[in-house]
Amino acid sequence: MPISTFRPRKKGEKLPPLKERLARIGLVNDWDYVLHLPLRYEDETAITPIADLVSGSPAQIEGVVIDERVSPRSLTAVVEDNTGVLQVRLIHFFPSQAQQLRVGARVRLYGEPRSGWNQTLEMVHPRIKRAVERTDDLPTTLTPVYPAGEGITQPWLRKRIARALLDVDLTDLLPESIRTKLRLPPLRDALQYLHHPPRGATLADLDTHSCPAWQRLKLDELLAQQITLRHSRVLRGKSVAPVLAEPKSGRITPDLIRGLPFRLTGAQARVWKEVGADLALPHPMNRLVQGDVGSGKTVIAALAACRAIECGYQAAIMAPTEILAEQHFRGISQWLEPLGIRIAFLTGHQKASERRAMLEDIASGRAQLAVGTHALIQDAVSFHKLGLAIIDEQHRFGVSQRLALRTAAADGLTPHLLMLSATPIPRTLAMSYLADFDVSVIDELPPGRQPVSTRIMPISRKPALIEGIGREVSRGHQAYWVCPLIEENEELDLTAAKETFEEIKSALPGVTVGLVHGELPQQEKDAVMQAFKAGEISLLVATTVIEVGVDVPNASTMVIEHAERFGLAQLHQLRGRIGRGSLKSWCILLYGEPLSENGKARLQVIRNTTDGFEIARKDLELRGPGEFLGARQSGVPMLRFASLEEDGELLDMARELGDEWLKNDPDTALRHAKRWFAGREGFLEA
Ligand code: ADP
Ligand code: MG
Repeated sequence: MPISTFRPRKKGEKLPPLKERLARIGLVNDWDYVLHLPLRYEDETAITPIADLVSGSPAQIEGVVIDERVSPRSLTAVVEDNTGVLQVRLIHFFPSQAQQLRVGARVRLYGEPRSGWNQTLEMVHPRIKRAVERTDDLPTTLTPVYPAGEGITQPWLRKRIARALLDVDLTDLLPESIRTKLRLPPLRDALQYLHHPPRGATLADLDTHSCPAWQRLKLDELLAQQITLRHSRVLRGKSVAPVLAEPKSGRITPDLIRGLPFRLTGAQARVWKEVGADLALPHPMNRLVQGDVGSGKTVIAALAACRAIECGYQAAIMAPTEILAEQHFRGISQWLEPLGIRIAFLTGHQKASERRAMLEDIASGRAQLAVGTHALIQDAVSFHKLGLAIIDEQHRFGVSQRLALRTAAADGLTPHLLMLSATPIPRTLAMSYLADFDVSVIDELPPGRQPVSTRIMPISRKPALIEGIGREVSRGHQAYWVCPLIEENEELDLTAAKETFEEIKSALPGVTVGLVHGELPQQEKDAVMQAFKAGEISLLVATTVIEVGVDVPNASTMVIEHAERFGLAQLHQLRGRIGRGSLKSWCILLYGEPLSENGKARLQVIRNTTDGFEIARKDLELRGPGEFLGARQSGVPMLRFASLEEDGELLDMARELGDEWLKNDPDTALRHAKRWFAGREGFLEA
């Protein structure tokens, strides 16, 4: 549930409009309010005699004010019932509150009693209500306390939510048979219960989200998600894609395979077969190829592109950064140009004339393959006959970007989509979020690779380490030195990277040292990276701009400074830059002291394994799925109520029931999904 982080407002700074503040905590339409569930509850259904108050347990009391003292800054009062007295203290207060607490008034207070300085119990800033001496006007339900944003009060939210509960159509869409089989309450009852639990409701069950009402909402959520995923699969099955089957003549894929400087690994061959089979179907492929960094995903992309081309279609490969796009362009050109394939290259930083020429090549079909960055999905780009869209490092793109490349279709056909990713996704996550992707895994690294050895050292060893790197580099090998993001402050980061750069330069006078960072203009960045690739630079100092996927087989060492500040997945990605050739490779993680227990454990995960899946699993353990896999990647709204770790059983059930529901009564099932995700992300098209 989104809870906005509180930032103190500067004096005189105006609050943004209410509508905006509400949207920030996810409240836009009525349905959002209905699903805005309490954080906790307060029990105002009973009155506790003052003598029975327990320090630390919130309670409601009723009594008469017998003393009130007002100073400019604070107010103290004493309230008495026929069992004892309670002190009340307000540190800042409004005149209306002083009025409420005047001597002789009968009040109802809700708050948490604490032992005061003089042994009597005290409530600081209790909620104060005028009272009349009768108890039959007590509420019969617990009072909800909602997650709220700046300047949004509980009474306002309560009223607004109560109204939404009346206004929204809460017709139960879930088939009666499912509901009774699982012994779940109707939707309206479940919501009513969660917003206003009756007196005596077990708070523990509400807290652990294990009561039937909570189960009901979790199931509804999981069902909506599964139905959405299934449905988009069904839609995809209905749309038509070009059949890209191995042609009888004019084949180029075999030539490509023959021309490669290596043999495909078993895993690559298997994955290529899976991809090839998909391409031969008249429905658009939606396949994700997962493979650890360095597992050789690029060649799969090249093979698929060749298949499209030999069938008379165009292919496009989109990468998230200029450097990566350029690298693909060069690498793939090396493989494909000898086969007579013409390749266009498109990025945001080209000369207008060059760009125009590339666009023409793509539009006329003269270029059979287009390689580029996001520039490929801009309006000006129109393909002659696109049959296959390939997206590298797909987790770096949003859903809409993925879709944009695919919609560049030819003659009413939907192009096939192939996605590549080095971010391994654990099984439960894949099942729940990626049910609409087919997944192929390259689970084998090319032979002859030396596994990377990883060392952990305190940063105090930096000078000695620089000496060591100097020796490694003097053997003709290359090295990366990665400087971290210190805080969200580019300038500071840069200063640190520049200092390291100077320090290394003066310590190793005979070594060419380069520096690359995010502030550098793209062209200079590219120039430095190219020089490093070409071996003209031996030691590259970089902030985290070292792009994912950059391939420099001669780089055998990587130092990561303040490794404790990086995420596990990020460390794994970075380390994947080395160990790409046949050189024995080293990764050195420098940590700042003191290092927390958790920090140590995290670095040990990286030291002890090079298996991306294992690291992802650990990462997931440490961080939870929400952060691990943003809604951006899945295209499906994140779960708000159900949790993949705790509700595995419900998830299995939802998968089965969702399928059944969609089959038996698709209209209602889709209505359910649509209602549930009302107004969120453009997931239905994804
Ligand atoms: P990634 O999966 O990280 O994108 P790449 O496709 O960039 O990996 O491949 C990494 C390196 O391994 C490249 O230099 C590539 O040429 C090489 N490579 C790929 N497949 C093989 C193979 N079967 N045998 C040997 N080297 C390979
Ligand atoms: Mg790659």
